Order: sequence, then structure tokens, then C-alpha cells
Amino acid sequence: MVDAVKIIETNLAEVRERIGRSAEASGRTAGDVTLVAVCKYFGSDITTDVVEAGCREIGENRPQVLWSKASDLSTLDVRFHQIGHLQRNKVRRTITCIDLLHAGDSLRLINSVSAESVKQGIVTRLLIEVNVSGDENKHGFNPTELESVLEDIAVLPNIDIQGMMAMAGLESDASNAQREFAQLRELRDRLFSVCPNNVSLKHLSMGMTRDYELAIREGATIVRIGTALFEGIPRV
Ligand SMILES: *Cc1c(COP(=O)(O)O)cnc(C)c1O
Repeated sequence: MVDAVKIIETNLAEVRERIGRSAEASGRTAGDVTLVAVCKYFGSDITTDVVEAGCREIGENRPQVLWSKASDLSTLDVRFHQIGHLQRNKVRRTITCIDLLHAGDSLRLINSVSAESVKQGIVTRLLIEVNVSGDENKHGFNPTELESVLEDIAVLPNIDIQGMMAMAGLESDASNAQREFAQLRELRDRLFSVCPNNVSLKHLSMGMTRDYELAIREGATIVRIGTALFEGIPRV
């Protein structure tokens, strides 16, 4: 029987140390970067161990899994992040469970999140997903359409646009990934000046196990890390 909490604690310490070093390299501190622990490879039991090891931000890819974990972990002090694509027929249940939607990847989806949030009397925090790598099978807005997208969604009620999210391309090596992360930061900086008052754009969610240090050096404020936290724990 492996002591999963112990293993995760050790992995977490290493990841946090690397986050700290990368943050310092970009003139910030570890506290400026939020770690979202991506628990999609495991069920509610190991996810509970992650919370026990000290992570309060949990990322999930599949909405149905997120719903059931939100229910299983309802007594714990934990916040959920929907990081994967969200279909519109799953918006209603998902927005009641999450702290932040990372995958705001189309106008139709964001419209639906706004409408459902109005119905439920809540405000949903979200990020605009941008397809910086140009991979055809990736979700997200094209960088060139962002300015007009921002105008369109800034007027929608009951959503709080917090920033942008991106993934490096599947085929990208380190230097390509770095360029893609830099591109997202530059895009954000450029949009700051034309951005409506109610849109903050302060967050950049970018970086996963293979590239989070690069992403932080390029300005990530949120990293989404799974694999590195679970080294030594057998996947079932
Ligand atoms: C799975 C996933 C991650 C985490 O990936 P790891 O390589 O396991 O760190 C981050 N972001 C998204 C959108 C994911 O689907």
C-alpha cells in the first residue's frame, strides 16, 4: 500500500520550489503563481489525498467527473477549475461547482455561461482560451479575432473575465512553447489598452508538467499541473 499523501507532498514540494525559482527569474515570487492540481488521471480518493497534501485548487478536464468530485469533496476547503472543453449542455451544472472556467473557447459557449449565470443569480469567473499554436484540433479563439471578441463578451451580464488561457502546441519543442507563451502575454498586454473597464485580463493560465517553468518565466499567473504531482503513484 503506497502512502499517496506522502508521495504527493514530496512531489508538491519539488514543484513548488521550481515554481518559486521560475517566478523569481521573472521578477516575482512563488505567491504570484497559483498552482492548479490537475487530478483528471485519478478518482475522488486520490484527489482527496491531493487536498490533504496541501492543494486547494483542483483542475478537471471532464465536467461529469468534476461534478461527482465536487459532491464527494463537498466537506473540504477546495476550489474546482474546469480546464477542458465544456459543451453547452453541461454549462448549467458545471458553473455551480467551479471557481474558474479556463476553457472559454467560443462565443456560443460564453453566451450560454452568461445566460445560465443570470438564471442562477451567480457571477461566473472565466478565462478566454486562445489557440496560440494554431493546431487545428485545439479549441480556442484565433489571436486575430480577440479584440472584437472582447467587445462582444464585455457586455454580457454575470460573467467576470479574468484573463486568458493557452496550451503550447502538441508538436512544440521548448523554444516554440516559449514563443507561444510570450505571444499570449504580448497579446494580453496589447489588449489591456483597448479592453473595456469591466474586463480584467490579469490572469494568464499557461504551463503544464512539461513546460510550466517556461510559462512562468513568460508571465503565467496560473499553472495547471498533473503528471508531476503523481510521480510514483500507479494509475489504475
Ligand atoms: C491534462 C491537462 C493539464 C495537465 O497536464 P500534465 O501534463 O499532466 O501536467 C493541463 N491543462 C490541460 C488543459 C489539461 O488537459
